[in-house]
Amino acid sequence: MQDLAAALSARKQQQLYRTRLTLDGPQGVVVSIDGRDYLSFCSNDYLGLANHPQLIAAFKEGVDRFGVGSGAAHLITGHSYAHQALEEELAAFVGRPRALLFSTGYMANLGVVTALTGRGDEIFEDRLNHASLIDAAALSTAKLVRYPHNDMQALQQKLSASRARQRLIASDGVFSMDGDCARLVPMQALARQSDAWLLVDDAHGFGVLGEQGQGWCVDQLGAGTDNLVLMATLGKALGTGGAFVAGSEALIETLIQQARTFVYTTAAPPALAWATRAALRLVQAGDGLRERLLRNIDYFRRGAAELDVPLMASETAIQPVVVGAAGAALALSAALRQRGLLVTAIRPPTVPQGASRLRVTLSASHSIEQLDRLLGALADCYRECLHVVP
Ligand SMILES: *Cc1c(COP(=O)(O)O)cnc(C)c1O
Repeated sequence: MQDLAAALSARKQQQLYRTRLTLDGPQGVVVSIDGRDYLSFCSNDYLGLANHPQLIAAFKEGVDRFGVGSGAAHLITGHSYAHQALEEELAAFVGRPRALLFSTGYMANLGVVTALTGRGDEIFEDRLNHASLIDAAALSTAKLVRYPHNDMQALQQKLSASRARQRLIASDGVFSMDGDCARLVPMQALARQSDAWLLVDDAHGFGVLGEQGQGWCVDQLGAGTDNLVLMATLGKALGTGGAFVAGSEALIETLIQQARTFVYTTAAPPALAWATRAALRLVQAGDGLRERLLRNIDYFRRGAAELDVPLMASETAIQPVVVGAAGAALALSAALRQRGLLVTAIRPPTVPQGASRLRVTLSASHSIEQLDRLLGALADCYRECLHVVP
């Protein structure tokens, strides 16, 4: 039996220990922790919908109509009108024949990958993919082949060397820790050439990017072809929770039969789906929100450039400030926190060694004054924290 306490203290020593914050109230750009208000730059609530009055009203209406729990798995009696209506609206929104709800994005990725691949197959993944896609490959027992970040030439070489029966390429649409976007057009061309599935995880693009917020995948590939599997989450820009997979009729029917994270789990509360329908309507009418978010991204990037604070090549709401050492990232996060600002430090193993960073995420709800507070605090603290070792 391993010594857990010793492993935990080693982790502390390496500055890798993780703890939770406990919020007193709702998610938002200002959150309350232990009775103190903090200006937050670390939620994925990109459009400020998590505490939106219309979503709250829809959630309450959903509870009045459907009760609290779904009471069963979708294939037993857990599938309600709220789930069905939301699936149909999501499919129409992304222009695919069908959509299927999952309780979380993590489960959606596990479900799709294990339903489509198994022993003797190969899964090709970007090195920076989200943990859920990596775990999905491990669970499927297919061979996992990783390629350097966004390197389509490397992907092509690995695909042409493949002798597997079944090939699946899986990529984040917007990379969750770097904020840059996958090169989906060449990726889809490679997928079709090699008769592979292409699974795009659009957790951070859905609701935010594209014409009406349909996401990065739809923006780049349109309705797509039958090999394309779109996964997006509902707990980020949409402000509720859960996820969906959209694709062909045959794909969705296959997932209903075989995706174990769909079959063997209780359906999410119908009221949540009801609230998500309200979120989807706000997203569709959300050009103003997306414009405000873009304005905020642009303002923050320019401000950081003036301060000589290096950012990554991201045009999305995820704007990491790379610091390097885990200890330096923690020190900067702590210094900002003292000033009433909340920006989480992201450390290995979530990001590679030496690439610890503050993951600044921006929301349409941030005001220019709030962005100025962040920029001012970075001006005060960034440089001195760089020298913190290790
Ligand atoms: C958040 C996230 C997930 C997981 O979604 P949950 O609904 O939170 O389980 C999957 N993929 C990516 C890229 C994510 O950022």
